[in-house]
Amino acid sequence: MDKQQIQHIRADFPILAEKIYNKDLIYFDNAATTQKPRCVVEKIEEGYYHLNANIHRGVHYLSQKATEAHEAARTIVAEFLHAGKREEIIFTRGTTEAINLVATSFGEAFCKKDDEVIVSVLEHHSNIVPWQMLCERKGLKLQVIPMNEHGELDIDTFKSLLNERTRIVSIAHVSNVLGTINPVKEIIRLAHEKNIPVLVDGAQAVPHIAVNVVELDADFYVFSGHKIYGPTGIGALYGKERWLNAIPPYQGGGEMIATVTFEKTTYNELPFKFEAGTPDYIGSTALAEAIRYVQNIGLENIANHEHELLTYCTQRLYEIDGMRIFGTATEKSSVISFLVGNIHPYDIGMLLDKLGIAVRTGHHCAQPLIDSLGIPGTVRASFAFYNTKEEIDVFIEALKRVVIMLS
Ligand code: PLP
Repeated sequence: MDKQQIQHIRADFPILAEKIYNKDLIYFDNAATTQKPRCVVEKIEEGYYHLNANIHRGVHYLSQKATEAHEAARTIVAEFLHAGKREEIIFTRGTTEAINLVATSFGEAFCKKDDEVIVSVLEHHSNIVPWQMLCERKGLKLQVIPMNEHGELDIDTFKSLLNERTRIVSIAHVSNVLGTINPVKEIIRLAHEKNIPVLVDGAQAVPHIAVNVVELDADFYVFSGHKIYGPTGIGALYGKERWLNAIPPYQGGGEMIATVTFEKTTYNELPFKFEAGTPDYIGSTALAEAIRYVQNIGLENIANHEHELLTYCTQRLYEIDGMRIFGTATEKSSVISFLVGNIHPYDIGMLLDKLGIAVRTGHHCAQPLIDSLGIPGTVRASFAFYNTKEEIDVFIEALKRVVIMLS
């Protein structure tokens, strides 16, 4: 994408024109959440102003329109992930809720004492804790795939961890700390050789790379709307139909039932079996709008531009003495975690903030990974398609000043 295209895109994001402490905002915290284009915010407004009525149950005009919009959003998410069937898409509050759903419902149906679940060392807490809770509930063991010094998973150890007690593998597509793009297709193939299903946490993947769940042969694939320019509080779970039919509902309530008597309740068909209560139909339509927006720019254009930013920033960061970058995988997305000498990451983040630059510091909800690196945390800069090389230049000069002040 050329400069003019980026400027055109930036104009769609009003927040990018904000001043922070009288400085131009430089927003490099996109792995935590992305900013929203005007069309997404307008979709939310349009929903509440013109389309608001509870869905599925109403015979009246507004209810039918809202239902159509929600179900059309499901189709858009299904097409975006290249799912075989739209019924395989369950709306959730986000990645975290989707993983909890699978850990609870799959765990209920298929796991027993002494079984094993495999995750990796680079997981976000939301792909560790729900499995730990299952382990505690039912007496399972959590197995962990280690990584090498570049932040790439050790596939040989993964193979040796797969055994007849393994019930499920749950793995990030892209690490939110190191940026590593994991070889999920190979991981899935190896697990499937032993008939073990795989959940892929796509929270950091879908905003950057095209995902085809059928080609990957993923059993479950989850993501959050807010990380792909959509609203907070909405996300999706893709599950193969046979798995979604085989596991019990996650929550009980309205909409997920077929019939209810005090003696017995029967459950609704997919996808409604997993969507108890009033769904976030405004959120789903706004998420669909965000996906449309991303598709209009094109994921290939996005990946190319972000790769340029990643390469340029990495190169410029090494101008700074004592620079240590964590995560140097060959396949890497636009996330850079670093430390400078012995300076605490929090101090760097605090001073950058005063210069209008938003980066994240700390353990990034991946404490076991940070512990394994033997560091207190990192400073993390993460880029989106609206970021520019000029912003990186300002960031590098600011960082140089900050480092001098803190050294
Ligand atoms: N998984 C990964 C890899 C993430 O980066 C995040 C959020 O940072 C999550 C899961 C959790 O996402 P959410 O808080 O939107 O549920």
